[in-house]
Amino acid sequence: MKILRDAAAVRTAVAGAGRVGLVPTMGAFHEGHLSLIRAARAACDVVVVWLFVNPTQFNESSDLVNYPRDEERDAALAAESGADILFAPTVEAVYPAGFATTVTVAGLGDILEGAHRPGHFTGVATVVAKMLNMVGPQVAFFGAKDAQQVAVVRRMVADLDIPTRIEVLPIVREPDGLAMSSRNVRLGADERRRATALHRGLVAAGYAASTGQRDAATLARVVEGVLDGEALSAEYVAVVDPDTFEPLTTVDRPALIALAARVGSVRLIDNMEVAP
Ligand code: AMP
Repeated sequence: MKILRDAAAVRTAVAGAGRVGLVPTMGAFHEGHLSLIRAARAACDVVVVWLFVNPTQFNESSDLVNYPRDEERDAALAAESGADILFAPTVEAVYPAGFATTVTVAGLGDILEGAHRPGHFTGVATVVAKMLNMVGPQVAFFGAKDAQQVAVVRRMVADLDIPTRIEVLPIVREPDGLAMSSRNVRLGADERRRATALHRGLVAAGYAASTGQRDAATLARVVEGVLDGEALSAEYVAVVDPDTFEPLTTVDRPALIALAARVGSVRLIDNMEVAP
């Protein structure tokens, strides 16, 4: 596996090599990331893993400063999982002096995660647009863990005619249900135990939906009740259309329940599709 730092080198490396699959990440790899790399390996001729802790999508400087980084470990895991190229650019290479362009997905980028993390999705959309232009992949692989991010990226790719197919893979969870996240390492032992309430709440709401509860507000309260049992309060619990993220009042078709909650100082997100 090659480790490359600039777009020209990546372009040269993938030229004429067939179908290029790209896996965007911010590093600190866990099974969630590795599942994306393996899926890319199975579907593509060349697998490029993008590793870049994008400063512009962090709305809290402490989150950026504390974000776990270990390129050597990530490089070994990426290679083991089938990556051909680890593209790990510097901040200066992505945002050279004079950089002045941003991509904003209006509406979708302003609600839920966007409302609680001002500027987050503009940071995401801008860096994803740059990354897709730099690498030129036929397919890019994203995780369902960041469901709203997927919706934002799909909207942007369609709106800007970017010729990359967006593939989405399921959330990888710890044995106790906690969605894997690079931020989980920052949870203390007690916080780690209480954090399972996010998934337990979603499961409880999914069960309620499957046994006849169609009222979205009631389903959200089911989730909040489980969080409350661990003295956690959600930043939001939203019952939305899985593609448009439009809020639903009645779950009369498959819906997504998305939530964010702070466990101690660590902000976690999770989501689950539920069906009537
Ligand atoms: P990140 O490094 O957190 O920006 O995530 C990079 C990619 O991995 C994104 O597409 C995430 O949605 C995906 N991802 C993160 N955690 C998980 C998980 N637990 N299961 C599946 N995909 C994930």
